[in-house]
Amino acid sequence: MSKKETMKSTFGRPVGNDQNSLTAGERGPVLMQDVHLLEKLSHFDRERIPERVVHAKGAGAHGYFEVTADVTKYTKAAFLSQVGKKTDVFVRFSTVGGEKGSADAERDPRGFAIKFYTEEGNYDLAGNNTPVFFIRDPLKFPDFIHTQKRDPATNLKSPTMAWDFWSLTPESIHQVTILFSDRGTPATYRHMNGYSSHTFKWYNDKDEYFWVQYHFKTDQGVENFTGPQAKEMCGKDPDHATRDLFRAIERGDYPSWTLEMQILTPEQAEEFEWDIFDITKVWPHSQVPPITVGKLVLDRNPENYFAEVEQAAFNPSNLVPGIGVSPDKMLQGRLFSYHDTHLHRLGPNYNLIPVNQPKHSMQMNHQRDGAMRVDDNGGGRPNYWPNSFSNIQPEGKNEEPDIPLHGAGSRYEFAHPNNDFVQAGNLYRQVMTDSDRDSLIANIVGHMADVPLRIKMRQCAIFYLADAEYGERVAHGLGLDIGHVKRLAEITQEQRVAETVDL
Ligand code: NDP
Repeated sequence: MSKKETMKSTFGRPVGNDQNSLTAGERGPVLMQDVHLLEKLSHFDRERIPERVVHAKGAGAHGYFEVTADVTKYTKAAFLSQVGKKTDVFVRFSTVGGEKGSADAERDPRGFAIKFYTEEGNYDLAGNNTPVFFIRDPLKFPDFIHTQKRDPATNLKSPTMAWDFWSLTPESIHQVTILFSDRGTPATYRHMNGYSSHTFKWYNDKDEYFWVQYHFKTDQGVENFTGPQAKEMCGKDPDHATRDLFRAIERGDYPSWTLEMQILTPEQAEEFEWDIFDITKVWPHSQVPPITVGKLVLDRNPENYFAEVEQAAFNPSNLVPGIGVSPDKMLQGRLFSYHDTHLHRLGPNYNLIPVNQPKHSMQMNHQRDGAMRVDDNGGGRPNYWPNSFSNIQPEGKNEEPDIPLHGAGSRYEFAHPNNDFVQAGNLYRQVMTDSDRDSLIANIVGHMADVPLRIKMRQCAIFYLADAEYGERVAHGLGLDIGHVKRLAEITQEQRVAETVDL
């Protein structure tokens, strides 16, 4: 142990006694003037900040990203400008629907959020371990998340709420198929891939732009739990993935991921079979072969969980020159929602918290004050712009290339709902092995066992539309009338809902 240090209060006064409260007489009562006791209790009472409404349970680590291929023809981002260049990162993995104390092995997508501390400011990529998502319009997000949380009446998790929503939201079928495969229960955070899921824009120093998707492929290999293994782990060690990540880094077994990018020119995107701004779809590898771009390595554990992991705030709108957003509606919604959440949880100065602070390009602007402003708050410099007293000024140039936008302002439904079943079917037919399919069916049948009949019927028709065998096997597992499921698959979603309402 290092040299003894005197305990001090938060305002720096040496503490004389930290074991006995100040009392009137030996047996009390306690005196109000015990300011040390009052300070200690009142700080304790305020130890918890609001937990994240999604992704509440997580684990994180520090590391670096290294560029392994020249991508300067696609992006001018400084941190991607040279082969061999390394950039500090902080990564947080998480589950989505559970509370802060929930089990790591629950069936759920996993968050895979990366903060790159670049010389041009922080770049955040808040991705998941799945390449797609359940919905593609942010207006549906709070409803969807409510179905993943607790029933308002019973305060219990409710498969009925989840399947009710999914069966009324057919575009969810692709992500539902991934979630109920064994990829919905990764063995650890180290043994899963990370995806941007959204399409982003890269642009170079000639202002040419490209549409891109990120794939961080685990170098540890993908490993998953089966449904029964995951259930067992939830009871045996609810923190198993948090523990695994910490212990691996502690013993010097640093996890890494290879970054592969899919890249399309705007012209290729125009002719592409899939809507590249629809987050319920992937870009098939055969049509857009990924190129290897870099390596992500995690080699340092946090020293203090609250300071570095709980207070870490990732924001998809933290972008650097050379990287921009796409019109993907879900991404557009997240540009608002993440920042807004951090304002609620951590306050307006959350970017001054060390883990969130840009390390190599400090903020320099005319924003001032607010709760927990803990730096010099701009000192004596002017707090308005334009001014004639300071030399802080905008660069004075266009920030990124224009993209053409057109159409009347309206609330548009997605144009090609029939496509929603194709990729889920391809995954079932072409990518999954026999044992993957067996796990998928067993996981779904187990989870749906107690939901009302009308929801089972509607959802099985959706499975059937993805793949006839898929729909038949789930229907069989649930003991449903397969002929009726087939008939429901032949009518529109609107008709299906009407026809099942009284079941
Ligand atoms: P490919 O055969 O080229 O790629 C299949 C991909 O599926 C691989 O990246 C593989 O990841 C991943 N995969 C394997 N098993 C599962 C599973 N149980 N759940 C989810 N993903 C899995 O095919 P395509 O690119 O033509 O895509 C076919 C289907 O594969 C898609 O409809 C989609 O569902 C799925 N997929 C596609 C991705 C893409 O970006 N194109 C990414 C991930 C999934 P790995 O190599 O790491 O094992």
